[in-house]
Amino acid sequence: MNRYRQSIDKFQEAKAYVAGGVASSLRVSMKPAPLYVRKAYGAIIQDADGHEYMDYMLAYGPLILGHAHPGFNERILEALRKGSTYGMQHDGEIQLGRRLTEILPCAEQVAFSGSGTEAVMLALRLARAYTSKRKIVRFYGHYHGWSDAIFTSFPSPDFSSARPTEGNSDIVPGTNGQSRSSLQDIILLPWNDPEALEETLTQHHHEIAAVITEPVMCNSGCIAPKPGYMEFMRELTSKLGIVLIWDEVITGFRMGLGGAHERFGILPDLVTIGKALGGGIALSAVAGNREMMRLIEEGTVMHLGTLNGNGLSTAAGLAVIEELSKEDGQVLKDMENTALRLSDGIRSVLGRNGHQVVVNQLGPVFHVMFIDRTEVNDFDTFNLRDTNLYTLFAEALLHEGILVRPNGLWYVSSAHGEKETEKTLLAVERVARKIAVH
Ligand code: PLP
Repeated sequence: MNRYRQSIDKFQEAKAYVAGGVASSLRVSMKPAPLYVRKAYGAIIQDADGHEYMDYMLAYGPLILGHAHPGFNERILEALRKGSTYGMQHDGEIQLGRRLTEILPCAEQVAFSGSGTEAVMLALRLARAYTSKRKIVRFYGHYHGWSDAIFTSFPSPDFSSARPTEGNSDIVPGTNGQSRSSLQDIILLPWNDPEALEETLTQHHHEIAAVITEPVMCNSGCIAPKPGYMEFMRELTSKLGIVLIWDEVITGFRMGLGGAHERFGILPDLVTIGKALGGGIALSAVAGNREMMRLIEEGTVMHLGTLNGNGLSTAAGLAVIEELSKEDGQVLKDMENTALRLSDGIRSVLGRNGHQVVVNQLGPVFHVMFIDRTEVNDFDTFNLRDTNLYTLFAEALLHEGILVRPNGLWYVSSAHGEKETEKTLLAVERVARKIAVH
């Protein structure tokens, strides 16, 4: 009897009605099968076959307070009792707007939307309108959502099910059906490479509206910027009249309540936040200086969305901020310590068992890579990792009750503490002995 029988059967059933059987293409890549969930609480998620897992996937990042956090749920239920959405204004928008401008150093104003993809779309639009230029510089290995404006393919096991066949330029579209013309405005550069940045921006600044970057390359190896790189990017973009957008959809709230830009002490012009901001409810925002955000007030840049700023989402944002602000931010510090202990532990357990690994950790997020290197600091090196071995590792961990993403990125929530860390490291030890050393 297959231990994932219910999930396998349900996936087959879903395929009759739901295109591809899953609601977001990435989810199909889970091995041995896309799991169906019965319920989840704290750090635990239970599948349709009744197995419980320690969850380090955390719905791809939003669940910074874990599943079904009581304080969070209370605030959501309270909001729901007053109606879910009005298509009109309410105090929750003012309160969340005010809190975000207090918390995020770059924010003089914010604009709400429902997903990271939408926030990035708005930030790009603001940058183009503000500069009257069209080109956008983005980096290999970064991900900024799936809109036609910015989606390009990059190798990752998560994206193994995507097989676009269209396009033959340097920039490979993320999917068939994507508008070719939108990608003509994209310039792709290697990240953490100040020379490449300087050369391109200096030569093409008259047509470049914005540089968009993840402040930490969380989507490919959790790679931190080299010392001075982000400062250099800030200086150069300011000097050349180019808008600097930090995509903090992952790092927002995770690298600190004020995001990575507070942690690194750098002020981008615009920041996008999502995922953890809503704690599992659809919510994202663009935050920026008044000079740029005023384009929305003037009506020259349109910002639309039926469900933008709905009562559930603003209650969710406020609840996450309230929980993370408790005890002078101790919750975030604890989370970061948990991630540190876990990543150190995984590195040493795997190393002790003969595996060559690099584990990059920054804040409550880390990336585990099987690789014949001592460090991974750029996308080219990241691409040398053994993805097949990691797939085996992830699958074996699942059997041991540990749920991780197939691409190697682990998220930690406030529900993960010492007990969870210990249990996880014991499971990693058992798995490390089982999987073959290449
Ligand atoms: N930006 C970054 C850095 C992301 O990691 C993601 C999603 O993983 C997005 C944008 C897109 O966010 P969403 O999936 O909410 O549209």
